[in-house]
Amino acid sequence: MCTEKGLIAHGLHSQIAMHRAYGGVVPELASRDHIRRVLPLTKEVLAQAGMTLEDIDAIAYTAGPGLNGALLVGASFACALAWSRGIPTLPIHHLEGHLLSPLLADPAPDFPFVALLVSGGHTQIMQVDGVGQYQLLGETLDDAAGEAFDKSAKLLGLPYPGGPALSALAEKGNVERFQLPRPMLHSGDLDFSFSGLKTAVLTTLRKLEAESSVITEQDRADLAAATQAAIVDVLAIKSLRALKQSGLKRLVVAGGVGANRLLRRQLEIESEKMGAQVYFPPVSLCTDNGAMIAFAAAMRVKSGVQQPDISSSFKVKPRWDLEDVTH
Ligand code: ATP
Ligand code: FE
Repeated sequence: MCTEKGLIAHGLHSQIAMHRAYGGVVPELASRDHIRRVLPLTKEVLAQAGMTLEDIDAIAYTAGPGLNGALLVGASFACALAWSRGIPTLPIHHLEGHLLSPLLADPAPDFPFVALLVSGGHTQIMQVDGVGQYQLLGETLDDAAGEAFDKSAKLLGLPYPGGPALSALAEKGNVERFQLPRPMLHSGDLDFSFSGLKTAVLTTLRKLEAESSVITEQDRADLAAATQAAIVDVLAIKSLRALKQSGLKRLVVAGGVGANRLLRRQLEIESEKMGAQVYFPPVSLCTDNGAMIAFAAAMRVKSGVQQPDISSSFKVKPRWDLEDVTH
């Protein structure tokens, strides 16, 4: 829930525990759980805010990109509820939610800024000139940064979701011991490639196994530290290059990987050196949440930006480029 007053209340039901047994998201389980949770969670958030449905002026929902089943549950619920009250629905692009979430932080950045969007499914650098004005400067050619964390973590025997687990293990590791590649660092553009990293992690593990029969906790921690350093280095260097190339002085980090402590620290140090400022969303709003969707909708309404064109209010878009958002 998000108005001129800021974020009034928000709730989250995490499906992480449910999916952990399978080592990743099971789409059908995800949508069934959405059906079970969406009404109780709505009631809980309204109660938290001390409000009723009568106090709501519009309902925002994620229209895409994402898993079709889960999107349809949210869209149907939002549209039915809004129809019953005679209020409008606002279909929101999931990545726009991530992208604008750092504006919920204090201090919030002004436009324009460079955004590093690092989530489980996307790694993009965007120039953001205002609400609805997004220009893609670079993106991953294969795996996303979050995926690189998750897949490497799996190889290291860590539970899903791997990013936070790998990052915690890395704290105990010696970052100097293994040297992993920094892909596309010298490509001259702002694109990324992370798929080779998991192969490098696997090769290093195989070598360790061949050298000694047991892989110790310290081996795994050292390799986790090297993996995290490789991912963070590339993200930081390309983000700073984007700042230089665009001449902008504000960098905004969004998406789940934005919760990573090393990434935060490294970007803070490096951007300060070049006289730029870096902004992060509150850690609790880095990974998927409803607050960022409500906030993106509120920003669209406030700035008078047209709603994205998704043909009908009931259509969801499992695949959707952010640059296609009408503005
Ligand atoms: P998308 O938004 O692209 O559809 P998503 O919604 O699944 O993907 P998010 O919820 O934004 O992605 O982020 C989840 C990702 O963030 C996972 O890959 C997870 O491992 C990673 N992540 C979360 N916390 C950390 C952390 N502290 N360090 C590294 N990675 C992290
Ligand atoms: Fe997401």
